[in-house]
Amino acid sequence: MLQERLVAMENKTASSNFIRNIVVEDLNKGTVSEIVTRFPPEPNGYLHIGHAKSICLNFELADEFKGRTNLRFDDTNPLKEDTEYVESIKEDVQWLGFEWDELRFASDYFEELYNRAVLLIKKGKAYVCDLSAEQMRETRGTLTEPGQESPYRSRSVEENLDLFARMRAGEFKDGERVLRAKIDMASPNITLRDPVLYRIAHAHHHRTGDAWCIYPMYDYAHPISDAIEGITHSICTLEFEDHRPLYDWAVAECEMESTPRQYEFARLNITNTIMSKRYLKSLVDGGVVDGWDDPRMPTISGLRRRGFTPEALRAFCREIGVARANSLVDERMLEHFIREDLKLKTLRSMAVVRPLKVVITNYPEGQVEMLEAENNSENEEMGTRMIPFSREIYIEQDDFMEVPPPKYHRLFPGNEVRLKHAYFIKCEEVVKNDAGEVIELRCTYDVETKSGSGFTGRKVKGTIHWVEATQAKAAEFRHFEPLLIDDESNADKPFLERINPGSLETLQGFVEQGMADSAGGDKFQFFRHGYYNVDPKLSNADKLVFNRIVSLKSSFDPGK
Ligand code: ATP
Ligand code: MG
Repeated sequence: MLQERLVAMENKTASSNFIRNIVVEDLNKGTVSEIVTRFPPEPNGYLHIGHAKSICLNFELADEFKGRTNLRFDDTNPLKEDTEYVESIKEDVQWLGFEWDELRFASDYFEELYNRAVLLIKKGKAYVCDLSAEQMRETRGTLTEPGQESPYRSRSVEENLDLFARMRAGEFKDGERVLRAKIDMASPNITLRDPVLYRIAHAHHHRTGDAWCIYPMYDYAHPISDAIEGITHSICTLEFEDHRPLYDWAVAECEMESTPRQYEFARLNITNTIMSKRYLKSLVDGGVVDGWDDPRMPTISGLRRRGFTPEALRAFCREIGVARANSLVDERMLEHFIREDLKLKTLRSMAVVRPLKVVITNYPEGQVEMLEAENNSENEEMGTRMIPFSREIYIEQDDFMEVPPPKYHRLFPGNEVRLKHAYFIKCEEVVKNDAGEVIELRCTYDVETKSGSGFTGRKVKGTIHWVEATQAKAAEFRHFEPLLIDDESNADKPFLERINPGSLETLQGFVEQGMADSAGGDKFQFFRHGYYNVDPKLSNADKLVFNRIVSLKSSFDPGK
């Protein structure tokens, strides 16, 4: 089923979705002359793959219709925000391949937002309320019961103007007063029950410093910021659907010149993947992972460090589409797109991740010959390279069994296999240490069987990979499993108890000597192991560190 869907998706060209249809209609009717979108992250963490969906949607929609997209930081909560996050978000959007028209900050509009709030007060549409957060919660009502009006709701315009100015001047403590919209405490839509527009927070802001001690709430700052920038289509996720009447109220009552419209789409959720900055931050702060860009993290920086490409992420986002219904996307879908992207681009070489030394006893001592190896068997244009072969090589521990089960075609005493790009070798002797562990194999090779020589004398069933030992480059391989185990048995457990203790496996092995000069970000396919990326942080002159991006084949079973 997944495979069928993938094929169907790949055949689809321009992806059509309901938001795109709205844009087309607006342009045809002349409701808007140009489409202007924005991507509005709060700089309180690093972006994740869910944000990538929103980024692709906003930028690609505007690009398609020759419109514009702003990157706007929704920096209205100084306690959680930081310039580190601002910088990482800019880097991630650019890395994904998008260029914003203008870089904006909601904090650029603090003065205008304040002035518009004063306008609301003058119109009798907002009031200063002295109820505590808890009292407000208690009087908000429920889905079935209306809320109660605040005793401060009937304050005069003069008193409200005075109190709001004094809130700004810093006369009150955090939480002592708020500015609320005066809408309808009996509205069936709870978001319209006199929502808070401004709160007091004596906190240092990463851009405005100590200039402000009152900060606008998202539901107020967002629509007004959109209107200031002339955004035409303000795209957000479904949980804001109920907030849309408040969005429209704010734009209308603040008498904004331009009228942006809000449209909601379903959040991206992926199996076994945590998609919330709050939880991701707790993994970073708790030391569960090695930073926001840990290759196990579903952050854009983590995916980049792991080896995902912008092309693969964009293709994934395009193909999962934009829907109005929440759904869960199989993580293997993302893996499919990175395999597709790397398949024909990457060098296919050999790496041994759990080395076992093999001595080829009849190979001349001191001799090293160079063998020709194709760089990508599915893409001839990538050419060939020369790899060394000698008396000592490493093979994979898994490719040898002293007592093989039936149908085992790899090495075992007396059996012959083909070494990829080289010769047939036959296992003659097993060397063990005092503990009885196999530490070396002694084999013979047949010079007649050289790869490419056209030898047809006999056949062997197994082909294994190897690396010449004297020139091999030491390498560390990092294999990953999901950070979170989300099965039914632990669904009720607290977040940190659902963490997979086996999410990282580190192996010490070797790669071909020709890869010694690889740099961070270089990608390879290692024969039989998968696609790997050179870790830009951990690799050094002595040792290359490879992150496994994805294994070669999907474990997907269409019968399931
Ligand atoms: P988080 O819960 O991860 O903090 P958020 O929605 O609070 O997410 P913001 O920085 O406020 O994060 O979001 C910026 C934009 O990205 C918003 O328009 C938001 O709707 C969108 N977005 C966030 N998560 C997802 C997701 N999983 N799928 C699609 N869009 C998302
Ligand atoms: Mg948020």
